[in-house]
Amino acid sequence: MTKKLYITTAIDYVNASPHLGHALEKIQADVVARYHRSLKEDVFFLTGSDENSLKNVQSAEKEGISTEDLVAKNADVFKNLKKSLSLSYDEFIRTTEERHIKGSKKLWLACKDDIYKKKYTGLYCVGCEEFYKESELQNGLCVEHKTKPELIEEENYFFKLSKYQNKIKELIEGDKLKIIPKKRKNEILSFINSGIEDICISRSSERSRGWGIDVPDDSSQKIWVWFDALSNYINALGYADDEDNFKIWWQENENKLHVIGKGISRFHAVYWIGMLMSAGLSLPSEIFIHGYLTVANQKMSKSLGNVVDPVELVKKYGTDAVRYYLLREITPTEDGDFTYEKFEQRYNSDLAGGIGNLLARTVTLAKKPVFNNLKPTEKIKSETEKYKKEYNDFLGEFKFNDALKSIWELISHCDKYINEEKPWEEKGNSSQVISDVLFSLGEISEILKIFLPETSEKIKLSLEKTESIILFLRLTK
Ligand SMILES: [Zn+2]
Repeated sequence: MTKKLYITTAIDYVNASPHLGHALEKIQADVVARYHRSLKEDVFFLTGSDENSLKNVQSAEKEGISTEDLVAKNADVFKNLKKSLSLSYDEFIRTTEERHIKGSKKLWLACKDDIYKKKYTGLYCVGCEEFYKESELQNGLCVEHKTKPELIEEENYFFKLSKYQNKIKELIEGDKLKIIPKKRKNEILSFINSGIEDICISRSSERSRGWGIDVPDDSSQKIWVWFDALSNYINALGYADDEDNFKIWWQENENKLHVIGKGISRFHAVYWIGMLMSAGLSLPSEIFIHGYLTVANQKMSKSLGNVVDPVELVKKYGTDAVRYYLLREITPTEDGDFTYEKFEQRYNSDLAGGIGNLLARTVTLAKKPVFNNLKPTEKIKSETEKYKKEYNDFLGEFKFNDALKSIWELISHCDKYINEEKPWEEKGNSSQVISDVLFSLGEISEILKIFLPETSEKIKLSLEKTESIILFLRLTK
């Protein structure tokens, strides 16, 4: 049977437009999806939008439009990243869709034995849509948003998460649920060891301003937005209405990978797992956690006016240049930084120089009438193979930057080979040298497919037609 991979990204809040950090996560997941497709596996790649948050109600009010219109408008912007970033996702789910509403209610009912009602007072951050303990705040402020949480007193529904503490811990410790990188695994384990409390999973309809999904059989309460949002991963597969598909991709599939940012790890590695255990459903196998993207070492924020719009960046430099920077410059599991200066430097040295230059000079030499296309030597074949192996190993470990580094080492290797052998002097071995580099370029175009799909295609065409093209126009000041 063909191996399957179900891969998801976080679904984004749609109260604002996407920034470059959103693009980073989507592109990372896209590379994983394309890589596994290249291994001839069956891949289902899901992304979507998280629309039931109170933040949307507040943003819509500010803009003077209905919440429905706001989320529809912004969900479209996120959905359209598919084209501007060359994403290969199979489906996009919105949490205001019927299949999602039905599914999250079904999950609630499946967890019913672990749900109880209780009067509660707590500190709630609307930005996070999460209650915090006093001890989790910094000077009384939410660490993530630097805002003061609201004191809320309500009678709400609670989920007996504490009941699953040991089971979740065992699962993560034994890598049955593999958390990548190790650093994040340890953070989650220490969060679990600090003692897991039951979580509040509803809010009054009044506080939700009527926005959100009703608790089954109690319309005075809405389902907590995280409880509903997390269920998107199963709802998109037909948890509520397509039993067969759900069985194939979730219940009986051993490879289910969530790609998320470091700020939401506990929701995925702890809350979500507890919910699935309670409902008696299959569990994800892996969670890959990336860092945050800063701009000139500052957090992107509207108030600082430093938000980088990925769509604008693509318009200026092209899709593959943006994909390349995010995959090559950013260490996937760490925080990374963007500046236009660093971006343009990478662009000129690696893309316009690097691969662009190697292709142009080799094809120019191959166009000369004296050139004879020969079989590649065993030496170039084994050297190319060496870099390809490195690249494969890195990809298996989500090290996109190192994988690209290996490909660019092969490019440098070819450059050096040409510089040393000087085939333009038309000595005895010039046709062999050019043939060797053409061979490597063919392999490079193949392995670049998952990172830079458009560029890979262009290289392939240029080689087939022996036609010089400019892959990336050099940027000048
Ligand atoms: Zn917050």
